[in-house]
Amino acid sequence: MKVPFFDSKRLYIEQKSEIDRSTLAILKSGRYLYGTSERDFERNFARTLVKRATLEGRVVSCHSGTDALVLSLIAGGIGYGNEVLTVSHTALPTVAAIKAVGASVAFAEIHPDTWVLDPKQVKHFISASTQAVIAVHLYGNMVQIDELRRELDHLNRKDIWIIEDVAQAYSSKLNGKPAGTLARMGAYSFYPTKNLGGMGDGGAVFCRTKQDHDAVKMLANYGKSDRNQARLERGINSRLGELQAAILNLRIGRVAKWNRIKANQMQVYRNALAGLPLEFQQVTRGCQPAWHLCVIRLESKPVRDALMAYLRSKGIETMVHYPISNHRQLAFKNKTQASLPVTDSLTKRILSLPMNPCLLPKEQDTVIRAIQLFFRGR
Ligand SMILES: *Cc1c(COP(=O)(O)O)cnc(C)c1O
Repeated sequence: MKVPFFDSKRLYIEQKSEIDRSTLAILKSGRYLYGTSERDFERNFARTLVKRATLEGRVVSCHSGTDALVLSLIAGGIGYGNEVLTVSHTALPTVAAIKAVGASVAFAEIHPDTWVLDPKQVKHFISASTQAVIAVHLYGNMVQIDELRRELDHLNRKDIWIIEDVAQAYSSKLNGKPAGTLARMGAYSFYPTKNLGGMGDGGAVFCRTKQDHDAVKMLANYGKSDRNQARLERGINSRLGELQAAILNLRIGRVAKWNRIKANQMQVYRNALAGLPLEFQQVTRGCQPAWHLCVIRLESKPVRDALMAYLRSKGIETMVHYPISNHRQLAFKNKTQASLPVTDSLTKRILSLPMNPCLLPKEQDTVIRAIQLFFRGR
């Protein structure tokens, strides 16, 4: 049996008739941008994050998760001469967004067990030019944002503000509060494989203040405040579009069910693989994760590579998120970067297992049995 890592077609089939009907209606309407689907989506999405009606207007939809980060950074005044701190152990877009606005990036170390930014270590990595931190909630687990804020305040750096990169953690919570609503701005991605994925690119920004919201909204629309008035010196074109918005409107109601399915799959993996020489990600204190990926850590790189090859030989697709951490990328290497031994060690030993709303129980069984067999044979 072949086990795909993620099969987007299955997600389409699950809601085929609704998606067909809704997208066809848009195609026939001739209205592909600035329509009602985008506005509906912004409101529907906001309602999953905040209770107060006044805050529902604080979501701006945009073209991608990368754009959501870029828009947040520009709205917060980040550009040439500023430094943004983030982790090296993240998807490239986090860093690409920082570079796209002309800022420089500093990489911080992760916690050895939760695999996300460790607030306690931030003091070793910030500098006088650090203006913002992008806190990346990786694989569904979250950065302890409250602790990070306290740590920065304690260091007398109230001027440093925080963006949450929520691309991998839509609907995770920290002490009951949704990821993306805990800092100044939260940047979401609707890339097809994410917790809420579209059929193409998509993103959104949640803003705590109306000023930030208005800035992000104008920035995403060439810098215009209305049809003909440019109010900001700069701006880009970043829209979700009616087709993606319509699809996301149909999917948003399914996320809770999909999260439950994945939570169950995660538990099945954890139970079945307990006792083998591998580890799972430890959940941050106070966090209720909505898992995006199921990542295991093996003893060493040779074992990881051998397991990956073994599973591939059995038709099981696995991935590594990510095989080259950002401070090791040719584009971002610099001599002054502090060493990141925890990140380096993790990168070599991680493996992402198939886990998604459309994975069948018998497919997960196949994965589990193959992993058990691999270790029995060693
Ligand atoms: C997916 C992702 C993004 C943004 O992705 P887009 O492809 O631009 O939507 C940003 N950060 C992280 C951690 C991601 O996983």
